[in-house]
Amino acid sequence: MGAKTLSTDCCIVGGGPAGMMLGLLLARAGIDVVVLEKHRDFFRDFRGDTIHPSTLDLIDQLGLREKFEAIPHSSIHRLDVVVNGTRLRPVDFRHLPKPNREIALMPQWDFLDLLADEARGMPNFHLIMDAEATRLRRKLRLPKNADAGKHPRGVGLRIADRDGRGGSQRITGVVASTPDGPLDISAGLTVAADGRDSRMRAASALPVRNFGVAIDVLWFRMPRPAVTPPSTLGYLNERTMVVTIPRPDYYQTAMLIPKGGFDAVRDAGLPAFRSDIVDAAAFLAPVVSSLESWDQVSLLSVQVNRLERWYLPGFLCIGDAAHAMSPAFGVGINYALQDAVAAANILSGPMTAGGVTKRHLAAVQRRRAWPVRMIQPVQLQLHKVIARPNAGAILPNPLPRRVKLALAVLLPSARIFTARLIGRGFRPERIRSELLHPAATRAR
Ligand SMILES: Cc1cc2nc3c(=O)[nH]c(=O)nc-3n(C[C@H](O)[C@H](O)[C@H](O)COP(=O)(O)OP(=O)(O)OC[C@H]3O[C@@H](n4cnc5c(N)ncnc54)[C@H](O)[C@@H]3O)c2cc1C
Repeated sequence: MGAKTLSTDCCIVGGGPAGMMLGLLLARAGIDVVVLEKHRDFFRDFRGDTIHPSTLDLIDQLGLREKFEAIPHSSIHRLDVVVNGTRLRPVDFRHLPKPNREIALMPQWDFLDLLADEARGMPNFHLIMDAEATRLRRKLRLPKNADAGKHPRGVGLRIADRDGRGGSQRITGVVASTPDGPLDISAGLTVAADGRDSRMRAASALPVRNFGVAIDVLWFRMPRPAVTPPSTLGYLNERTMVVTIPRPDYYQTAMLIPKGGFDAVRDAGLPAFRSDIVDAAAFLAPVVSSLESWDQVSLLSVQVNRLERWYLPGFLCIGDAAHAMSPAFGVGINYALQDAVAAANILSGPMTAGGVTKRHLAAVQRRRAWPVRMIQPVQLQLHKVIARPNAGAILPNPLPRRVKLALAVLLPSARIFTARLIGRGFRPERIRSELLHPAATRAR
């Protein structure tokens, strides 16, 4: 059976936060957009639930506040951390300017459904679920004097946008696998928003810079005990950190372990794992027995990396595909969404006018690479503070008077900084006014 074909202005691979936001904004600009998502729905378990103040600002700008409020979610104004029994309040979003001074906790599938429902209302937006992009389409342009016979197609395509003979390549879309067979999509612009294990980024062979990471994360659910403490991001002791993200009827819980340490944790057995959880977060003692099998525990192999160059002619990477983020501070979704807004702000005009050049794609990278370069070292630094096996407690219990005094002096001003760092991030984006309301679909 031959491949079905489709032609569009922009093909976005990946229906995560970055892909759905970019799809919605470009569609509002009247651009024909196809978003491919390899799963059948958005309903997959934990990928981060945090909707930061900067994202709430975007929701307001998009006029989606009422629909957002109609979806069940909770909000937190502070991120408390309990260090060796001492409760600290290092982050308080009430230091941010109004109106959005909290983090909303909403299952990511609900948030993505909200964006998808909004975008589906436009005839130029096409979301194709259960469609996995498997390779990039390329057009190779040889220099006039090249001897094509001596250079089979594909040679040299591994290096950026130049082939071995001084020719150039352009990405012209993707080939996707769907339940109805292959789908061949030609696109003026192809965007890789397919996450931290991006297949499209690998296919592009754009060079990646990887940073060593000291931790992995184990995720599992804990029912809510009858007595719960105030909302708390995490509990740190001398050996680990346990993160407790409140959902309506359970805690999405994480334990930080040394990189590559999951086998050792498993070998030590479930009783030891349960006891480590309770050592750090004692309030979970009445419910920890609900962990009965390792099948309830998923490993997140933490990566921190970024592309040195985010684009090729006809091709752009955004979100985790351009820069995989650690879960530290829970800012990955936020940065992915901000990339999408910057890309739409910069590219929608040129796309409507007939074509995006490398200069436009470079402008997207210039806009967003700086915030990523700023936050990733902060995340890596936090890993170092947390992952310090056998280095003793970060804070003693009880706290000596001088430490109490230092915290009392430092924390209030630190809170202003951390609220901005986490809540809004470096260089928060505003959506350009032309993208706020659906435009008439561009004549094609
Ligand atoms: C366990 C876990 C917990 C996290 N916790 C938080 C948190 O609390 N807060 C936070 O801000 N961040 C968190 N993160 C990070 C956050 O999930 C990412 O930074 C963010 O989702 C990146 O968004 P994205 O759109 O770039 O990529 P993703 O969200 O990864 O979306 C990529 C999408 O592309 C699809 N896809 C992949 N390959 C293909 C293909 N070939 N064809 C078609 N579709 C494809 C995937 O199915 C997926 O839907 C967490 C991550 C993990 C794994």
